[in-house]
Amino acid sequence: PELFAPERPNSKGFDLGHQPSLDAIDAARDPFRTHRWQAGPLLAEEAAPQAEEAVVNPADPHDIPGSVAAASAADAELALASAQPWQAPAAERAATLNRAADLYEAHYGELFALLHREAGKTLMDAVAELREAVDFLRYYAANIPDAAPAGTFTCISPWNFPLAIFSGQIAAALATGNAVLAKPAPQTPLIAHRAVELLHEAGVPRDALQLLPGGPAVGAALTSDARVSGVAFTGSTATAQKIRAAMAANMRPGTPLIAETGGLNAMIVDSTALPEQAVQAVIESAFQSAGQRCSALRCLYLQEDIAEDVLTMLKGAMDALSLGNPWALSTDSGPVIDEAARQTIADHVARARAEGRVLKELALPPEGTFVAPTLIKVSGIEALEREIFGPVLHVATFRSDELDQVIGAINATGYGLTFGLQTRIDDRVQHVTEAVHAGNIYVNRNQIGAIVGSQPFGGEGLSGTGPKAGGPNYMARFCAPDRQQAAA
Ligand code: NAD
Repeated sequence: PELFAPERPNSKGFDLGHQPSLDAIDAARDPFRTHRWQAGPLLAEEAAPQAEEAVVNPADPHDIPGSVAAASAADAELALASAQPWQAPAAERAATLNRAADLYEAHYGELFALLHREAGKTLMDAVAELREAVDFLRYYAANIPDAAPAGTFTCISPWNFPLAIFSGQIAAALATGNAVLAKPAPQTPLIAHRAVELLHEAGVPRDALQLLPGGPAVGAALTSDARVSGVAFTGSTATAQKIRAAMAANMRPGTPLIAETGGLNAMIVDSTALPEQAVQAVIESAFQSAGQRCSALRCLYLQEDIAEDVLTMLKGAMDALSLGNPWALSTDSGPVIDEAARQTIADHVARARAEGRVLKELALPPEGTFVAPTLIKVSGIEALEREIFGPVLHVATFRSDELDQVIGAINATGYGLTFGLQTRIDDRVQHVTEAVHAGNIYVNRNQIGAIVGSQPFGGEGLSGTGPKAGGPNYMARFCAPDRQQAAA
């Protein structure tokens, strides 16, 4: 248990139920309500300027939070050629990362504004995201293994945790002394650029941390070059499979790929569960962050005897959700990230609607890339061909003698990220949590969120390679393999 106790306490965050702290947040983020940021490559050497593209607020097409110049193939080459492992002693690297954590906290108003306007995150999500980013920086700084760095690490992150996951990968790679080539998701370059500026300001050398904004082409260039000694990737399972193939074709055998990928996450609610508790857990797990969490609940299994009652309560709770601009305190759920995401999810809902399987659907705000929280009836999780990354919850029912079949169907998806169980039978908790294959299992609570240092996060099967982020084994993968072991 000592292994899981961070040496420093986790960041405190903000009390959103306390008016003075809300007033402080408002004052801190207000100067950034119409600010325009600029993002581009941050390389060890000066890069040639590239054409800029506007970044649009997903909640409001009239709001342009900034512009980005993507890294070119020449920039990728420049970065690969100039990357230098961070030679400073471990204690100095740790002090620098702790300074960066302090800078993140000091700039919370600006970072919240970026999370609202670039990533569509509500204030509650923004607070949690900043805390996680800060916790990653401090946790990895506090737990640096006594080993040599691998060399140069490519870090590729998704848009759905554009500060926390982006910073977490980088922090682990830097803490262990690697050079980092960071490629953020193309949807969220502004906050990534700001984060790298703060890391440089804290003292991370520019040749140890370079930023290369852009899409798949930049990512591919940084994951198919023999000068790279390891890749940390978080994103979809399909992209992880492409990266694995590119690495196998171009890099030394055994080059580590840490991949944290998608899920088809289920929750089982049996007839002994507390309905109020189950409904709240379902609402948070399926619809918070507009369902755009890898951990989000996709398929809810309700035991037949209580299904009708729980569904009635669930529909009522959905009616109370407020959809809108994430800057507003009253907003529970913001937009999905962009038009392409909206279209994919809307097509899925339209098919279900045509088949008469939509049980409940909320109204949409007039503008922005919103998807209304939606309930869809399915026969079981096998009906979901892939992860639908939005506020769409599929519901199935089961009889009491079908529990093991349900578990079998969940395991048969091949994914294994999160799983939720609502029951008041102790033996059942034991049985089900042992039988379900999932990295993170949540009992009688929501199934989203993890706490750095005490709840390491990561999946198995198609959901990830491990080791879990924010846990004691993560950083070993960023170190050079032990020479003695390799020789033996
Ligand atoms: P994505 O796979 O489309 O993109 C992720 C990153 O990979 C982006 O930076 C993208 O530009 C880059 N990329 C795309 N093609 C590439 C290629 N050929 N080579 C190198 N890089 C390439 O995923 P997304 O839409 O940004 O994120 C959502 C996905 O991430 C969901 O599937 C979600 O479940 C998953 N996710 C998983 C976790 C986890 O901890 N397991 C956490 C967050 C998100």
